[in-house]
Amino acid sequence: MYKGVPASPGIAIGPALVLPKKQFQLEKRVIQDVTAEKNRFHQALAAAKSRIDDLIASAQAQGQTETAKIFEAHRLMLEDPELIAGVEKRIAEEKVNAEFALETTVNFYINLLAQANSDYLRERVADLKDVAGHVLQLLAGDGLQTPHIKADCLIVAAELTPSDTALLPLDKVQGFITEVGGATSHTAIIARSLELPAVVGVKKITSAVQNGDLLIIDGEQGAVLVNPDPGTVEAYRRKQAVLHRQKEELARLKGVAAQTKSGKTIRLLANVGEPWELPKALEYGADGIGLFRTEFLFLNRETLPTEEEQFQAYKEVLVKMEGKPVVIRTLDIGGDKNLPALNLEPEMNPFLGCRGIRLCLKDKALFTTQLRALYRASVYGQLKIMFPMISSLEEYRAAVKCAEEVRAQLIEEGHPVSSHVPIGIMVEVPSTALITDLFAKEVDFVSIGTNDLIQYTLAVDRMNEQISHLYTPFHPAVLRLIKMVIEQARKGGIEVSMCGEMAGDPRFTPLLIGLGLESFSMSPSALLAVKKQIRTLKNSTAKALAEKVLALPTAEQIKAVLGNEENKE
Ligand code: PEP
Ligand code: MG
Repeated sequence: MYKGVPASPGIAIGPALVLPKKQFQLEKRVIQDVTAEKNRFHQALAAAKSRIDDLIASAQAQGQTETAKIFEAHRLMLEDPELIAGVEKRIAEEKVNAEFALETTVNFYINLLAQANSDYLRERVADLKDVAGHVLQLLAGDGLQTPHIKADCLIVAAELTPSDTALLPLDKVQGFITEVGGATSHTAIIARSLELPAVVGVKKITSAVQNGDLLIIDGEQGAVLVNPDPGTVEAYRRKQAVLHRQKEELARLKGVAAQTKSGKTIRLLANVGEPWELPKALEYGADGIGLFRTEFLFLNRETLPTEEEQFQAYKEVLVKMEGKPVVIRTLDIGGDKNLPALNLEPEMNPFLGCRGIRLCLKDKALFTTQLRALYRASVYGQLKIMFPMISSLEEYRAAVKCAEEVRAQLIEEGHPVSSHVPIGIMVEVPSTALITDLFAKEVDFVSIGTNDLIQYTLAVDRMNEQISHLYTPFHPAVLRLIKMVIEQARKGGIEVSMCGEMAGDPRFTPLLIGLGLESFSMSPSALLAVKKQIRTLKNSTAKALAEKVLALPTAEQIKAVLGNEENKE
């Protein structure tokens, strides 16, 4: 078994198609006519642009918006004045052929990117190679080389560029395996949007596999099996059939209401951490966005996003959600998420350090820029602003003061701003959970962030795999806090939701509804499974279950009860 990075879930079984490594025989030639050589380069550049335009159009026609965006970025790379000037300079000064000038110029940027202290930038090497590959191919007079695929297969490649993927007959491709790439690589993004299983970063897989070998991709586990025995194939086929049936069954729930058997309607919202998840949230029928994590705008880059860049991103999500509520969380950097542009001091205990709202209150410019972008976007939909890591009322009041100042300033500058932007908090620190009654007098809403609430309540670092067995949502202390937050928020007349992973785990749905929770926010892929659970539930059963569970003394006992199928009826 070969292990790699799980990039897109699901199981695929089929014969391998190993894509050959692309090799350009680059010859350095001395040229006489500089103008003619520059013209040759520009002709190839123009042809490459029109080739990429075709790729954009074809991606858009197939509804592959994320893929289209990747090609749009490629087109911009081809228009980069520095890149073009670099190639022209080499042709003119070194009197070398366009291919060699392009290759050396591109290699210079590839080396810079390869040294970058960021996965995202390192992965952009693949984009640059892809773009340069088009021009080199055109300079060599080669046309597009479409791989000849007759039957269903699993693609194995050293590297799969977006244009390689676009050339594949995707109706025959059942999954992807690549040697390079991480979870944010384009192969991963494209595979997820195509809902095809994929494992990336599988070292030396192209030499271990021959065309026609039988492969199994387990996208959930990040595993690849080569020529497995018939028993293993049978076991995976069964697993695959179960997943398929589950998916089909769940797909039927897309248009139906999230209502219990007793007629209680539950609000199902989506968590979105990357823009590509937004179409999935809409497809699976989310009633809105309950948590829009904004870190993606800040991570994997050397500079901070501008107010304008942030404004466009927030506006886009509000417009796409067409008036449905969108809770955007202000920046939650710190803990496991670092931000190179800020040069943050290393901390002894980053999860207990300058994280989330603490950092924003310390770096007012950072906070103000984000708040300005948010309020400017507020006129495009139903925006709600949420602060993370709030641990006291003072902190909340300081954050609200900043928000009010920003709002007043924007109005003074003549910007249109929505007349009502509710402000709420994440309840993810026990101190806040314990005084929900006091918060309820000041905030518009609360959302329970169980991922952190568990780690802070149990003193178990959520990133430390040595103690991961101690990190449990079933702990009675966690459940008591959740009960308290729901009760106190409801008593105080404010909206209460949950956006931690527990909200998307169907084992907890009956308990949480029994505790009075009516709004759940989760990863889009969990929405239908939770809806299914809701629809099999009676309110009285949920209430009785909550009472029974809250009286149990250990996580083990609670887990045994909640894992039981009988909780549904
Ligand atoms: C949480 O803590 O439950 C949460 C939703 O926030 P994050 O996972 O982004 O810390
Ligand atoms: Mg959190």
